[in-house]
Amino acid sequence: MTIDIDFFLNTVASAIADKQVPVVDLIAVQTRDPFKVLVATILSARTKDETTAQASTRLFRHAPDAASLALLSEEKIAALIYPVGFYKTKAKHLTRLPEGLNRFGGRVPETIEELITLPGVGRKTANLVVSVAFQKPAICVDTHVHRIMNIWRYVETDTPLKTEMALRAKLPAKHWIGVNSILVAFGQSICRPVAPHCDICPLEKKCPQQGVRPRKRPGVQMDNNSTLKFVSWNVNGIRAVEKKGFINMLPDFDADVVCLQETKAQPDQLSEELRNIPGYTSYWHSAERKGYSGVAFYTRIEPVTVHYGIGDPEFDCEGRVLTLEFASYYLINIYFPNSGEKLVRLDYKLRFNEKMIQFAQELEKKKAVILCGDFNVAHKEIDLKNPKNNVKNAGFTPEERAWMDSFVAAGYVDTFRIFNQEPEQYTWWSYRFSARAKNIGWRIDYFCVNEAARKRVKSAAILHDILGSDHCPVELVYQPG
Ligand code: SF4
Repeated sequence: MTIDIDFFLNTVASAIADKQVPVVDLIAVQTRDPFKVLVATILSARTKDETTAQASTRLFRHAPDAASLALLSEEKIAALIYPVGFYKTKAKHLTRLPEGLNRFGGRVPETIEELITLPGVGRKTANLVVSVAFQKPAICVDTHVHRIMNIWRYVETDTPLKTEMALRAKLPAKHWIGVNSILVAFGQSICRPVAPHCDICPLEKKCPQQGVRPRKRPGVQMDNNSTLKFVSWNVNGIRAVEKKGFINMLPDFDADVVCLQETKAQPDQLSEELRNIPGYTSYWHSAERKGYSGVAFYTRIEPVTVHYGIGDPEFDCEGRVLTLEFASYYLINIYFPNSGEKLVRLDYKLRFNEKMIQFAQELEKKKAVILCGDFNVAHKEIDLKNPKNNVKNAGFTPEERAWMDSFVAAGYVDTFRIFNQEPEQYTWWSYRFSARAKNIGWRIDYFCVNEAARKRVKSAAILHDILGSDHCPVELVYQPG
């Protein structure tokens, strides 16, 4: 089946007419300045438009042109553009940009071949600058254009570059400049990367929906008596646990929300299968450092908002906190730092811990709060096999336990201990010495709730039998009301 591309693009253009214009187009319309379009495009990679718009405004206040950008230090640029994705790398590129532009007389060049010689400018950015800033024929193929053109089977390609080449040969020239702006807005609002909203899409009857799993439960509102199941699991590497059957395992949890820690992957390192587990939408907050830290959600309930980090660059660059806001509560997914060998990161961890309490207390002013994740601390002697031998070790130092005391004193409840006072209930075991087989472990993974949420907790448990990581999952059943 060949689609009528004029009909498809015109229909989409009407459907997104009231949606927000992509930020780079907005800057182009507002400023007509190729330098600002170029910089905003560099900032926009892997970043939400709203964040790009705010970061661009802050940066352009100090550096409205290449000459003033050259006067800013890399650290200053990083501080101005934070929290755009990969802000440190982008700050490096922007520091070198004025020098790159000098080769073109200080002006932004108008061809793709010249643009891609500039630091931080790939083919996608170059195409966007040529089409948006100079209104010259170019096709900017980003992830949305590549994905949607394949969903429509207008092209059959496996990389954005091949899509660009196929579109150059096939797409009528009148659509070249506008196609990116239309499909980005469409891809962000209706034809979303995970679980597209086909139920409200004007193309639903005609779209081939190649490889698509539409969302199943639009705008789920639980009635007051429904209970929800949450599962939290430190997977010690999502790609490692994928090889151990995670994709088949996830539906078996039958959880409404699954909260993962230590994912150790950036979104572009995830397989299509991991990103599109049927019935779930996933959200990822990754560390800047590859293969390190990171948290994620899989949810079958649509959140009201998603909040990345806690607003502090010192911690947010490590991808440790991700929050979903629902109608009556917040669910905070946390990977607390490990104090490390010889406790070299103990101070860092304690600073993070204090920030976490402040962050939760701010949210608590609005709604009930549930915190879950790998806290990297065993609170009491009952929570690990060999307490006496571990008083000087990461995860059981007096300082870490004192923080947990203060966390409890601030009104947060360890839900597992509401229901179970037994010893030898662990969630983490060393890979060494057959520790799991001998149950020589620690309980360091928790679901905690504030006072407002406590009366809604129905049960809490440890899922000892789930293998695949050195941690096992923990579970909470909750009635939101
Ligand atoms: S019907 Fe679904 S897959 Fe097709 S364009 Fe619309 S949202 Fe995308």
